[in-house]
Amino acid sequence: MKIYINGTFHTKEEAKISVYDHGLLYGDGVFEGIRVYNGRVFKLDEHLKRLYESANSIMLAMPMTFDELRHATVLTVRENNMRDAYIRLIITRGIGSLGLNPFSCEKPQVIIIVDKIALYPKEMYEHGMRIVTVPTQRNMAEAIPPQVKSLNYLNNILAKIEAINAGVEEAIMLNSYGLVAECTGDNIFVVKNNVIMTPPSYMGVLEGITRNTVMELAGQLSYTAKQRILTRHDLFSSDECFLTGSAAEIVPVTHVDGRTISDGTPGYVTKQLMIAFKKLTETTGTPVFAAA
Ligand code: PMP
Repeated sequence: MKIYINGTFHTKEEAKISVYDHGLLYGDGVFEGIRVYNGRVFKLDEHLKRLYESANSIMLAMPMTFDELRHATVLTVRENNMRDAYIRLIITRGIGSLGLNPFSCEKPQVIIIVDKIALYPKEMYEHGMRIVTVPTQRNMAEAIPPQVKSLNYLNNILAKIEAINAGVEEAIMLNSYGLVAECTGDNIFVVKNNVIMTPPSYMGVLEGITRNTVMELAGQLSYTAKQRILTRHDLFSSDECFLTGSAAEIVPVTHVDGRTISDGTPGYVTKQLMIAFKKLTETTGTPVFAAA
């Protein structure tokens, strides 16, 4: 495995950064999780755009241009010679002093890891997943904006712990108004009367690339897709429920807080979206091996 750090490649054992990096000391930095399907990077520009927006939001001056980073990302996949993979792109604030001041840090560090990822067991894609609402709320935008994909994931990790303690794989996180925000690493959708709905980003949600892709695919399949405020009741009384994320793709949800969604099997619209999504991932994206 070849890991990119600031322009050079290292083995997994040798890929190391300073313990003075504020990414480690404070979770100060931003990241992306991107997929490679069939030798093509899926939605690369969309992920890079969100990365640059996240960096701008936390006043982190990106050390590379968009095109340079795009090139480095494709190059790292090519160096690893993988046609199906998961890319973890990380920009840390860089090496600084032990104080909080981010402007004491020398230069942001760019790390690109290309590996495999399998978030949930295969049977969950066929039979559906059980999820529960957890006590840990999604961060308020006034505290740590959920729209920023930062290295500070403790909010989500606390919710994940509560899900695991409850014996399930994923948690529904509510915002401080008690309204549905998202899951710890995925966006959430419901289908009701053939309308596909997901909470708007101002509910405290990361604007998922998969979420946006699903909204587009819904339109192509002649469904109405809307951003709408959702309560737990809306989840319980939905016809279908599913999660989306780059690593997770589309996961059907069949039980929410012990309530069975419809007949307790993955829904028809969800399955149609899963097929359309798979087709899109296999036929679009930035070519890794053909590019010079
Ligand atoms: N919400 C959170 C909190 C996430 O971390 C992620 C990404 N893992 C998502 C939603 C899904 O975003 P995307 O579809 O861009 O992967």
